[in-house]
Amino acid sequence: MKQIGCKIIPIVEGFCYKPPVGCFGYASVFLVKDENKNILFDTGAYCVRKEIINLLKKVHIDCVVISHLHFDHCSNLDLFKNSDTKILLSKLEFKSYFKNKYKDNDLFNYFDYIYQYLNLKFVKDNEQISPNCTIIFTPGHSIGHISLKIQDKEKTYLLCGDAIKSKKEKKHLNKNTNAYDYNLAVNTRKDILKRYKYILYGHDCYKKKLKIRRF
Ligand SMILES: [Zn+2]
Repeated sequence: MKQIGCKIIPIVEGFCYKPPVGCFGYASVFLVKDENKNILFDTGAYCVRKEIINLLKKVHIDCVVISHLHFDHCSNLDLFKNSDTKILLSKLEFKSYFKNKYKDNDLFNYFDYIYQYLNLKFVKDNEQISPNCTIIFTPGHSIGHISLKIQDKEKTYLLCGDAIKSKKEKKHLNKNTNAYDYNLAVNTRKDILKRYKYILYGHDCYKKKLKIRRF
């Protein structure tokens, strides 16, 4: 099949700030246009809701890939209640949510009230979801964390969510950044860096990086 390539459009550019105490940030949200399919990677924090609403006015989203169920990556999922948009996540992440919802404050608590109204679909490792996009399991930060591999004409991109949060984190691979499973998170980070050259992190800016292909 002739590949016409994908477009990766940052809808929200992530942000990560470490004040002297604690940390603060919100996640990136990407729209991936793969041939006739529109894929949204994460739905962001509540503070970027306006951006997501504006996008939904213009574009029909066929499926949403949820990297993991932390609040800064999947708030605004309620905008897809009772819609035909498929919400893709790993079964492990879904199960782990119910196991940990009273323990892990980073989880998106409101998910409990909306998941029955979502068109949820569990995805497997290496599952192809569109002609050029494949789900890759990247566990550690959360137990069922997933990333999206995008095979463009010559380049392979990985939207890696919080598996590697930023360029800065890339330089401190062994640092524990609130990982569910520290050793697994470190191994996953190393594996990603070994396999992928073009990585779009979960909390970083991209406009410059994506200038290599301006969409
Ligand atoms: Zn997270």
